[in-house]
Amino acid sequence: MMKTANITEEQIHGRGVGSGIGMGTAVLIDTHSAEVEPNSISTEAVKVHKKKFIQANKTLIGELEIMAGDLNDSGSKEIIEAQLQIIKDPEIEKNVSGIIEEKLLSVEYAIYRTYSKFIERLKESGSELFKQRIVDLEDIRDRLVAIVCNHTHKHPVKKGDVVVAKDLSPTELVSFHEHGVAGLVMERGGPTSHAAIIAKSLGLPSVVSAEHATKKIKTGDKLIIDSTAGAITLHPVDGTVAHYKKLQKEREKRLSKICKDVFETKDGFPFQLMANIEFEAELPKVKEYSARGIGLLRTEGLLFGSRIRKGREEQEVFYENILSGSEGIVTIRLFDVGGDKGVTRANKESNPFLGWRGVRLLLDEKQLLHNQLKAILKVSGKYPGRVRILVPMVSTMREVVSIKKELDQAKKEMLAEGCSFDDDIKLGLMVEVPSVAVATRNFAKEVDFLSVGTNDLTQYTLAVDRGNERICELFQHYHPSVLHLIKMVYDGAQHEEVGLSVCGELAGDPVGAAFLIGLGINELSMLPHSIPGISDLLTSYSKSDFEKFSTAALNSTNADEVKNLFEQYFS
Ligand code: PEP
Ligand code: MG
Repeated sequence: MMKTANITEEQIHGRGVGSGIGMGTAVLIDTHSAEVEPNSISTEAVKVHKKKFIQANKTLIGELEIMAGDLNDSGSKEIIEAQLQIIKDPEIEKNVSGIIEEKLLSVEYAIYRTYSKFIERLKESGSELFKQRIVDLEDIRDRLVAIVCNHTHKHPVKKGDVVVAKDLSPTELVSFHEHGVAGLVMERGGPTSHAAIIAKSLGLPSVVSAEHATKKIKTGDKLIIDSTAGAITLHPVDGTVAHYKKLQKEREKRLSKICKDVFETKDGFPFQLMANIEFEAELPKVKEYSARGIGLLRTEGLLFGSRIRKGREEQEVFYENILSGSEGIVTIRLFDVGGDKGVTRANKESNPFLGWRGVRLLLDEKQLLHNQLKAILKVSGKYPGRVRILVPMVSTMREVVSIKKELDQAKKEMLAEGCSFDDDIKLGLMVEVPSVAVATRNFAKEVDFLSVGTNDLTQYTLAVDRGNERICELFQHYHPSVLHLIKMVYDGAQHEEVGLSVCGELAGDPVGAAFLIGLGINELSMLPHSIPGISDLLTSYSKSDFEKFSTAALNSTNADEVKNLFEQYFS
């Protein structure tokens, strides 16, 4: 702690997301939503209350449409579009009208009750995948109540402010970003929470899981957010401000110098940085950041997003858009859905992440699997050599054998239909369950390539729910145990001479990327936004530097030691 006059500089620690350094004045945002009490109305007032509801919906739809139109960021756009879909849901409208008309209760209560009932149902499901929907529903509920009650819902932020909140909904975050805020501090939310992912994709310097931040920080306080270190400096003294300003300048200089055509370490070890994307709207970013193809195309959004595109032809259009809008390899991952987020039936599971997920579900839902395989095959015919198929959540050899059988079957049917496809289409597995990592050789024998999903591999290795902010301190993707598993995967893939890439968040994290390159893995796939920072790091040192670091990291006993080593080697 340092003191000047009567101000004491203080550090608050959390998990860093986004990129870079943010400096500004804190604005505390109270996101607590007050409960709405039931209020009786007369039969004569029913019409007015129903009209108020319709009007409030229209107002909110208008606001969200403007917001969506203003954004370039596809992830954020999708979230807003998902909210629009919820507002337009006829079941919600029926419920609200029913409460007003039959129970003779006020419109604000009817809205509050209806949305809260849906929220409770989702909470009961305990599903991680529904968690983000809950935040969306709470956000819409509170905005609609505010509109019908004529409460202005605007938060007083301006360019250069740093937003500090317990939790934020994705749309609040998007709207703060539009106001040009310099950073974000959130008390809750793990690094893989929806808000954190959006902050990252927006490139907003952020620290999440910052304990007691809303108690320690007051509106008007000066703050510095260091998203690399996951640190917040409260009341920075002049020396600290100067230090961070220097760091900020150096970073800008380095990023502007990045050579976009050659990706190799200082001593000539070539590597490829690919993109993880989910929607067509992300394609411009893939180009902008010079990604060498798409290392992970998540497809779950086709089943649950705001624009469901489940049918074979609809999927073909989607894959075609991605292929025609990009260059190089496109790795299409089969639907990774599961737990109680079933596609054709709602079956409640007490451990969804250990349940009916990924390939397990696909092998039970043959129609769904075949539609997707055939849509991918069809597009591969038009772009030979560019499409790869990736299978999620594999844990046993039986699944691999079965999925290969299904792929062969789909190919046969395509031939019978007279459809051409790339007969040499590559099939790969996600390595995200330790059972596959430790026996990589066996699995590698069966396929063309492997891709390590470090998000799930960390979750399953350390037995840490990746979305649970309460234990997010334990979610350490460069924990030496995870690193050792990745080394086993690398050795197995080398032995069998199959391609290997890493597409989990570790690849887009400087510490992780340094470790992976040191190991010899030269295909890393990450959010497009992470590419400049990672290529800057990897091109600034030699392979031998990264090798030394990897060896030391593997000899470490904990994740902090790995991080400290990284700072020693690459400061
Ligand atoms: C992973 O698990 O690391 C991964 C890339 O897949 P997802 O985050 O979609 O589960
Ligand atoms: Mg995964």
